[in-house]
Amino acid sequence: MIKPTLQCPCAGRHLQPAFQYDAPPPGETAFDCAGGQYRRGYARCGLCGHWFSDNAMDLGALYGGAYVDNTYGERMRQTFERILALPPERSDNAGRVAALLDFARGRFAAGTVPRLLDVGAGLGVFPCRMKEAGWHCTALDPDERAARHAREVIGIEAVTGDFMRIDTSSLGTFDVVTFNKVLEHVEDPVAMLARARPLLVPGGFVYIEVPDGEAAAAEGPGREEFFIEHHHVFSPASAALLAVRAGFSPLLTQRLREPSSKFTLRVFATGS
Ligand SMILES: [Zn+2]
Repeated sequence: MIKPTLQCPCAGRHLQPAFQYDAPPPGETAFDCAGGQYRRGYARCGLCGHWFSDNAMDLGALYGGAYVDNTYGERMRQTFERILALPPERSDNAGRVAALLDFARGRFAAGTVPRLLDVGAGLGVFPCRMKEAGWHCTALDPDERAARHAREVIGIEAVTGDFMRIDTSSLGTFDVVTFNKVLEHVEDPVAMLARARPLLVPGGFVYIEVPDGEAAAAEGPGREEFFIEHHHVFSPASAALLAVRAGFSPLLTQRLREPSSKFTLRVFATGS
């Protein structure tokens, strides 16, 4: 039974059963299902091609356990430095930075320093590289360790908080707000993305990066795009509709396979 809170970006509900899992696919983050049986699936919208997680297990343990330890544990600094050291052709982040700088070129007045807010910054590899490109960056992450790492190791501003709950008016305004592989993790990505609207200056844009379920599905249900932590997996149509429903105008959608082998959709959308 799909949770009624999971809405389709097309506002429809044309669900068709897709994948079923009775055991974790290889490579998925270890998850303690508290003695219960591992059972979950995905349904797909027949209209816009969006994928919904069908999962009655309590995922609270997911973000409190191995997921957080793997992301923010003692190895945080080492992981950050290992990713920074990747050659550009093996770095998903290098492609992201290049795509964003390309889209931003000519959009902001010459000589100004563009301001960027990265929602769900995690290790902060992305704002680190944007800072090196001359941007003013603020990292936002629910984990205090990530915020401290952003301040002390990367040297950028950082805020600890859940973007759905914090008072966003205290953050200031930005030329660009980025959501890199964040929106698939929340139940209501439209509501989360909509909270970025009042933060954008006129002429600013949001950059959204989400898993491409349509491309990944061709390689089967074991793909990482369909791992347990993703409530939503997108199609090119549903990713663009997500931006529209949140009050933005999508200007460009890119579809790519990243160096890490992830199938990814990028959407650039303006607020005005
Ligand atoms: Zn739909």
